[in-house]
Amino acid sequence: MRVIVVGAGVIGCAVALELRRRGAEVVLMEGYAEGGHTSAASAGMVNPFSLTPNETPALPMYWRSRQMYPEWTRTLYEATGIDPEWRDTGCLRVALTPADAEQLRANLEWIRRYDTAAELLDAPTARQIEPALNDAIELALHLPSEGWVHTERLMRALHRAVQLNGIKFDTGYPVLSLLHRSGRVYGVRTAHSAMEGDAIVVATGAWTTALLLPLEIHVPVEPVRGVILKLGDLPVPVRRILSAPVGYLVPRADGTALIGATREQAGYNMYATAEGYAHLLQALSRIAPAMLHATVLGHTVGLRPDTPDHSPYIGTIQGFERLYLAAGHAYHGILLAPATAHAVADLILNGATELPIAPFDPNRFVR
Ligand SMILES: Cc1cc2nc3c(=O)[nH]c(=O)nc-3n(C[C@H](O)[C@H](O)[C@H](O)COP(=O)(O)OP(=O)(O)OC[C@H]3O[C@@H](n4cnc5c(N)ncnc54)[C@H](O)[C@@H]3O)c2cc1C
Repeated sequence: MRVIVVGAGVIGCAVALELRRRGAEVVLMEGYAEGGHTSAASAGMVNPFSLTPNETPALPMYWRSRQMYPEWTRTLYEATGIDPEWRDTGCLRVALTPADAEQLRANLEWIRRYDTAAELLDAPTARQIEPALNDAIELALHLPSEGWVHTERLMRALHRAVQLNGIKFDTGYPVLSLLHRSGRVYGVRTAHSAMEGDAIVVATGAWTTALLLPLEIHVPVEPVRGVILKLGDLPVPVRRILSAPVGYLVPRADGTALIGATREQAGYNMYATAEGYAHLLQALSRIAPAMLHATVLGHTVGLRPDTPDHSPYIGTIQGFERLYLAAGHAYHGILLAPATAHAVADLILNGATELPIAPFDPNRFVR
């Protein structure tokens, strides 16, 4: 069986590698150089809970994907020699107001159904283990199961693994259209060639809606720009992710840290603005004011592929055989990559998956 995967971000690469591991012939098509710019520009949190204000139907899949992370990243490291730096440091989700504190107390109950070690810490205890935290925090929720990867390294490892594993990696020509006849999608066309396959996977992130519109498939995906600042020379070391409603601070293995992230509706514009910087510095001053003395090493910008319910599309589209979607991962594409890859490979090769993908049905907004 030959599968064509369109888009070489974290999702397309993960899907391509899983299909190849199970014996499929795979062609990975990427429009712009190596691809995956947004994936590489992301904060890399593997965080089923800390960006999730309430219990959501997506949680079982978040949790399954989190559980796959140690093995998934270890295998990538062994195969490529590039360490994606998976670290299960845990996260302190901090309350900056009494209302935030109420929310954290309410969240503990459902989070404990997954992470039994999750616990509330009073402010002095939280500051004892993370001295960079603001004196003024109300409370913290310790989430020991959360962690992070270094996303630039992860993307380098994924692209290297694709090249080493006998996947045909076709870069530089965007897929302009999907070839279809009588409800069956059988290939893709670029400006320079056409290619046929037994299954087509669309993993085109924030560019998904335009590719599917000519087939009259309506899957809303909007780019939401995110800017992150890279900080060095930290005045106080940070060990865990520090997350609050205003933003988050993510440590890196080399002693640097990231402060993220803006959420901006700016179309496909990839510039960082002074306003974005101001927003991030304001967040930093609320979470860990000592960090205002750190050095700003630079910034990254990415376009999150957001959907109306912030959940991805994983699966098939009614009325279109052989077409699979793995797109619209919004705020959780790094977290969800391994489980998405397993689910899509299951669907293509076995026709079904035991992974909990029901909330991600691509037909939920189709007109
Ligand atoms: C600032 C920021 C912080 C984030 N933090 C986190 C986090 O901590 N944890 C987390 O889980 N997620 C996070 N995310 C979200 C995560 O980065 C995304 O959900 C994820 O990268 C999406 O991956 P993707 O492969 O779908 O998209 P992308 O990485 O955008 O890849 C899609 C690829 O498809 C290619 N493409 C598009 N159209 C075509 C075409 N027609 N033909 C060929 N190729 C095409 C593009 O060039 C691109 O390479 C963050 C995002 C941002 C911006």
